[in-house]
Amino acid sequence: MPASQGLFEFAEMPDWERAASEDVPTAQVVFNLPLERPYTYLIPEEFRELLQPGMRVRAPLGRGNRDVTGYCVAIGQSETTARRLKPIREVMDTEPLLNSVMLDLTKWISERYLSSWGQVLDSVVPAGVRRKSGTRMIRAWQLAADSERLMEVLRLTKKQQAVVDVLRKQQPLDGARLCELADCGPGPVKTLQKKGIVEALQVRSELTGEELSQGEQTSDLQLNSQQQQTLNQILEAVRSGSHRTMLLHGVTGSGKTEVYIRAIREVVSYGQQAIVLVPEISLTPQTIRRFRSRFRSVAVLHSHMSDAERHWQWQQIARGEVEVIVGARSAVFAPTPALGLIVIDEEHEPTFKQENMPRYHAREVARYRCRQEEVPLLLGSATPTLESWIRAARREDQLLSMPDRVAKLPLPPVVVVDTRNDPRIARGASIGRALFTSIGTALKEKGQVILFLNLRGYSPTVWCRSCGEGVKCPNCDITLTWHRDRQEAVCHSCDYAIPAPEKCPTCESAAVRYFGTGTQKLEDEVCGLYKDARVLRMDSDSMKKPGSHDTALDSFRRGEVDILLGTQMIAKGLDFPNVTLVGVIDADSMLNQPDMRASERTFQLIAQVAGRTGRSSRGGRVLVQTTSPEAASVKFAAKHDFQGFASYELAQRKDAGAPPFSCVTRLIFRGPNETQVCQTAREVASQLRERADTSDKDARVLGAAPAPITRLRNLFRYHLMVSAPTVERVRDLWQYVENRLTLPDGVEMAVDVDPVNSR
Ligand code: ADP
Ligand code: ZN
Ligand code: ZN
Repeated sequence: MPASQGLFEFAEMPDWERAASEDVPTAQVVFNLPLERPYTYLIPEEFRELLQPGMRVRAPLGRGNRDVTGYCVAIGQSETTARRLKPIREVMDTEPLLNSVMLDLTKWISERYLSSWGQVLDSVVPAGVRRKSGTRMIRAWQLAADSERLMEVLRLTKKQQAVVDVLRKQQPLDGARLCELADCGPGPVKTLQKKGIVEALQVRSELTGEELSQGEQTSDLQLNSQQQQTLNQILEAVRSGSHRTMLLHGVTGSGKTEVYIRAIREVVSYGQQAIVLVPEISLTPQTIRRFRSRFRSVAVLHSHMSDAERHWQWQQIARGEVEVIVGARSAVFAPTPALGLIVIDEEHEPTFKQENMPRYHAREVARYRCRQEEVPLLLGSATPTLESWIRAARREDQLLSMPDRVAKLPLPPVVVVDTRNDPRIARGASIGRALFTSIGTALKEKGQVILFLNLRGYSPTVWCRSCGEGVKCPNCDITLTWHRDRQEAVCHSCDYAIPAPEKCPTCESAAVRYFGTGTQKLEDEVCGLYKDARVLRMDSDSMKKPGSHDTALDSFRRGEVDILLGTQMIAKGLDFPNVTLVGVIDADSMLNQPDMRASERTFQLIAQVAGRTGRSSRGGRVLVQTTSPEAASVKFAAKHDFQGFASYELAQRKDAGAPPFSCVTRLIFRGPNETQVCQTAREVASQLRERADTSDKDARVLGAAPAPITRLRNLFRYHLMVSAPTVERVRDLWQYVENRLTLPDGVEMAVDVDPVNSR
């Protein structure tokens, strides 16, 4: 065996590698297919010096002996006499794409989340890295040397001027990025080139990336004693050189980010790297700016990065040239050579769970990775998940608390408004009497207002008054949402859209009405009520362009907007001192979701939205409109009582045998033929029940039943749940059945371990 060279070292043979006799060198290879075990191949003479675990190979697979790309996960020896081995045909990399830590981590994910190792590997290594994008040259644009003089004599259109303005700030830029930032098509750029104002040049594609750029550097804040104490505890863990998971429960505005930054500062001073996971990059511009302004090199992993940029970044990180990596859940796989700490901010956010294969939870992956690399893991939230909370309560993890806001600012008072008898709401308005008055007062006192409503569109239900049926999407089991600006009824699952339905598709009556309030209708109502107020709506319809959040929040920060209204997009992380009123339009819409965690989510949302105000000496207040004022989640959130809520909800879960007191795995079946899907799901359910009866009396099987969204993009969906006290016991049960299972053609199955949604 050659000693490993290159970026990664393959330290020791993992235990999944079989001990073997001396004979021929072999490679264990896994494929991006639902296959369980690695396949053994012979390594031909010419690859023996070259091949290392973590490289890709091509090797013949299946009866047809077609060459398929797979990952070499181990190298060993095998007796040729046992059977004739097929040879590796080609080694595709000169350096491993994954080191031993990553191989071990991906193997663990495949076992923990019941997917194949090869599938996990393919989803962990970015496509740009696999294709080695980035060495190619691309065309980019910059202002010509003569441009300023030319512009004095030539008249530019608005669009052309926008292009010039963008380039004045940053150049060179590739065409796609330029058009995106200037909000135009390629036309204006071409015209400017003809006029000699801009010119094209060839650059290495990575040079247009701004992901490693530095922000303006700012200095440290003086920590208060609560922050200092917390930091000391974290530093103790960092210095211990061992693994520990810490849950930082800090109320909104307690200054958690500042504590993360200081802890990372220490890690960086040892020459190590830190990974910071945030729920969604585009929603956390403030946090990112703070990291950029405090560290020399911060890599921000965006979802809209090009393959080339991603590849370049992956290499920079692997070389240890990046101090801090900030990204959404997949950043947990960043190939840092000397990891020192992982921080997960807002650990309660469901976006940390991946919703397609492999359906991993980044918190659990981080936990495993940190344990393997013997470094601490820091989870932070004002509203931790019950899963994390109970681990801390049982002292499996360490609890750190920051119960006070910085500068001793009080948490804002929360008023729960029962809207059942509200005269304004009875007349169809969304803003009840109390909220109406409060907004008026806040505006008069020159405060800013945030209004939260979790439904986008104009009216969330298109509905027929004659037959009482909702007008549904023809592909999905979902009623259409009316978008008045587009004059279309839209399916929020598959984007199917039709012009205003003139007739009910069920009874052909013309009495089609739009029902309920989405953010667009709320915007109309607000603009009508407060004629002088400047109103800004933030939801995924109004914020389609990358960077638009940033722009919107900037203008809110500068005080150019009086009322900011929107969906969950505005619920998190924002820190604006001038916000003196937050209104939750309808807490019920969250409470009434058919989901085990509806109550937990409602608590989290109210607490998080409430956290957006009272962030300066001006103070602030919160109004929560609801028709269920007695709901536990609403009552506890109004008192800022996380611990009270957690005890209450944990007792409920315990009675129900629900997580975190059990481990749940959801199986989703889908296909074009409903009978077939239903039968398959029922058959699997009965096999699981049979097996549970004989092997695990504590296991339970619920279903099969139609999934809450029974039809999605023309496929019927059925699901079932398996629950058992531990994940190992669910796995044993499922694997026994899976090994005996053949799915009929036309039925697909997805396995979701620890599901966070049950749609
Ligand atoms: P959290 O993430 O806990 O909600 P942040 O980290 O966003 O809180 O901090 C809230 C605000 O308090 C920010 O504007 C931050 O700059 C400020 N802040 C944090 N720590 C201090 C401190 N020690 N002194 C003064 N201001 C601070
Ligand atoms: Zn009808
Ligand atoms: Zn649809």
